[in-house]
Amino acid sequence: MRFASLGSGSEGNGLVVEAGSTRILIDCGFGVRDCAARLARLGIEPASINAIFVTHEHADHVGGVPAFAGRHGIGVWLTFGTMTAVAGRLDGLSRIYGFDSHDALVVGDLEIMPFPVPHDAREPVQFVIGDGEYRLGVLTDLGMSTPHVRASLDGCDGLVLECNHDRGMLRDGHYHASLKERIAGRFGHLCNDDAAALLGSLERSKLQHVIAAHLSRENNRPALARDALAAALDCTPDWIGIADQDEGFGWRAFM
Ligand SMILES: [Zn+2]
Ligand SMILES: [Zn+2]
Repeated sequence: MRFASLGSGSEGNGLVVEAGSTRILIDCGFGVRDCAARLARLGIEPASINAIFVTHEHADHVGGVPAFAGRHGIGVWLTFGTMTAVAGRLDGLSRIYGFDSHDALVVGDLEIMPFPVPHDAREPVQFVIGDGEYRLGVLTDLGMSTPHVRASLDGCDGLVLECNHDRGMLRDGHYHASLKERIAGRFGHLCNDDAAALLGSLERSKLQHVIAAHLSRENNRPALARDALAAALDCTPDWIGIADQDEGFGWRAFM
């Protein structure tokens, strides 16, 4: 199993995971041509994607899905709540599938286990994706961790973990007070310190990859996210990967 990012942040997200002959895309917040260009960097033809899984209805996750899925005839999976929230935007797509936020799904060689997260969306989920041997936990867009989030991510072989903001930078930055409140709130986004605390609380003996994702351009710096997560793992900061808004990150494999 291996995975790579097309880009991550409030301007668009997309993560590719593949094993055997199966390749899935989690979220697509990029326009059709932009998405194809980002996939090309990874050596991927758009039509080779077997399924798109959507975490929630915010534009940076679902904005590019209708056009991309429609153009390339790819099926789209989303929770019933997310489906309700995006209803009109998916008109015209023939292959739309709802799922329950606690039920595992199998697509070819991959098992996709969703789990609900606290975020200001209708029925937001994140995923643990496995190939029977390795498990990748993906966690962005949540205001706080929960016991169920921790239980879902325990013992993963790789983690893509939201480090949205540095608390001090958000507090002292120029965002309007109401936006600061939303981001820092229980249904907003995870800050570096909370991501580090979550990471530190997990069973992590098998971890091969930790990637900080969904970093705010305004309220965070890669070095701050790296330092926070490295402190939780007692590793060097450069071991922590960064999912960049423009570049994403290249293929990471499990072995
Ligand atoms: Zn987002
Ligand atoms: Zn969101």
